[in-house]
Amino acid sequence: MIRSTRRPEYGRHQSTLPRRPRFALVGATLLALIVAGLSGCVSPGTPRPASPTHGGTPDGTSQPTPSSSTAAPTSSTVPATPPTPRVNCAKVKCVALTFDDGPVPETRELLAVLRAKNVKVTFFVLGSQAAAHPDVIRQIVADGHVVGNHSWDHPLLTRLSKAKVRSQLVRTNHAVVAAGAPKPIVFRPPYGGTNQSILRLAGAQGMAQVLWDVDPLDWRDRNSAVVARRVVAATRNGSIVLSHDIHPTTRAAYARIIDRLRERGFNFVTVPELLGSRLRPGASFRSAHS
Ligand code: ZN
Repeated sequence: MIRSTRRPEYGRHQSTLPRRPRFALVGATLLALIVAGLSGCVSPGTPRPASPTHGGTPDGTSQPTPSSSTAAPTSSTVPATPPTPRVNCAKVKCVALTFDDGPVPETRELLAVLRAKNVKVTFFVLGSQAAAHPDVIRQIVADGHVVGNHSWDHPLLTRLSKAKVRSQLVRTNHAVVAAGAPKPIVFRPPYGGTNQSILRLAGAQGMAQVLWDVDPLDWRDRNSAVVARRVVAATRNGSIVLSHDIHPTTRAAYARIIDRLRERGFNFVTVPELLGSRLRPGASFRSAHS
């Protein structure tokens, strides 16, 4: 996959998270009780195994390699913990929406749509962008979305040495953690360009590889109606949808996409929620079924 333009525009730097409002003591206590009750529905659950074994679902091009099952070294102080699924995707229709190449300040526009629609998604971010816009990363996390690794600056990793690939992965994870997100447990290679060596390197960093089975070509066709029609037509139960939050036309398409898919009975989950216990370091996925 080759894109005509990749570099996101750099816009205004928006300031940090919303300030915490001040409440009267009684009101604050009541709010705390309500929030505590709600968060019980989405709180983190089973911790990641201390010594994960590899060999999850192969994607056909990149076979997981048992010899790469050394536990992922982590320099992070934030534990990587997959969340407890909010819905059971074994029983209901699920789709994982994913957004690549950000964050950019305008990612907040998409976050507002997702918040209004109560939809959780997965962002595969560039380390360079995470370092430039840590406030957006913090908002992504605060809104309940998942942050994955999409390399530092979007090279075709198959053309790089192992050392440079490793650097792309490690630098990005450091930037994501420094911005305030959990250490990524999902990785998406730029352009989908991968091989067994890259898969092993991602596994060694504690990450599964996540490709996609729905691609609306939103980077090429900057038309919200076209993007929406393609996503809705191609999405199946268990699909992983690729899009790019750096494009205004893509951001504008998602209110409609969410409404149409919801009408068809889909539940929106993050990639870790979609894959559940099969999501192990060094495994590779295109959807919940492959
Ligand atoms: Zn990309």
